[in-house]
Amino acid sequence: DNGPRVSSLLMLVIGLTGGIGSGKSTVSHILARLGARMVDADIVGHQVYEPGGPAYDDIINTFGREVVGPEGKIDRKRLAGIVFSKADSLEKLNDITHPRIRDAIAVILKEWRGEGTKIAVVEAAVLFEAKWTTLVDEIWATLSDESVVLDRLFKAKGMSHEQSRARLRSQIPPEEKARRSNVVIRNNGGLEELEKQVEDLWRSVNSRLKGSGTSSPNAPG
Ligand code: ATP
Repeated sequence: DNGPRVSSLLMLVIGLTGGIGSGKSTVSHILARLGARMVDADIVGHQVYEPGGPAYDDIINTFGREVVGPEGKIDRKRLAGIVFSKADSLEKLNDITHPRIRDAIAVILKEWRGEGTKIAVVEAAVLFEAKWTTLVDEIWATLSDESVVLDRLFKAKGMSHEQSRARLRSQIPPEEKARRSNVVIRNNGGLEELEKQVEDLWRSVNSRLKGSGTSSPNAPG
């Protein structure tokens, strides 16, 4: 019975990334509504920290018991306090969590392949930073002008322009993410314009899949 293997060839995995406030979550919601199966790396990321999760022990061994809160859970605020005060700590934390998150996403994708899913989307702000690009067949990036991002983050989260700029500087520049992606979703206008763009992309990716019968039309380099 080679059914599962046949269907495994037919799933396209799209990585969705972009700078902060550029519209990743909004595009995710649109894609989910259109029928894509979505995995959010942030949610998977939280799971690896849970007691019994694959990063729990290593984090405590590396950063000390003081990162454990009253209920035995890792207290992300305490951890952040340590990570952002000591040089190299963030890198150490990422070295622990990123490979575990990657493995967990790979397990989910494998399951979905087995179920005959046609298109899966991995939403990950740090797709490039975490080197998760090999999990996906192609990469889509949302891109917004910095002035638009600053405005949005102020309105949506009350973040000052200085806070937003500091966050932007902690990641690969959004323009570079766009350059390294197969598809760029420009998001400087309204919601309707964004919806139309994503609907067009969805249509074209579906007709591409139908036409070629293969899952990797354009592997990122
Ligand atoms: P983050 O990295 O901060 O999680 P993100 O890239 O996921 O951000 P979103 O959360 O989708 O971005 O968008 C940031 C904010 O801007 C949200 O409040 C969202 O509703 C709003 N927004 C995004 N795109 C548009 C748009 N085209 N029109 C109106 N509002 C938008």
